Amino acid sequence: MSCQEAGMDCEFSVQSNDEQEIIDMVRKHAKGKHHMDMSAKDVRGLMKDAAKPA
Ligand SMILES: [Zn+2]
Repeated sequence: MSCQEAGMDCEFSVQSNDEQEIIDMVRKHAKGKHHMDMSAKDVRGLMKDAAKPA
């Protein structure tokens, strides 16, 4: 999961086998860096979108 996969010009990425950990880190990053309030559901949606073939 990375910001670039989510269509953002940002170097941030996170890798973990623990989905909950990814969601947590992405939410903190989105809030701190992008001033975006994301719910766990939002992050899951992004993860699904990123997994789709372009
Ligand atoms: Zn970012």
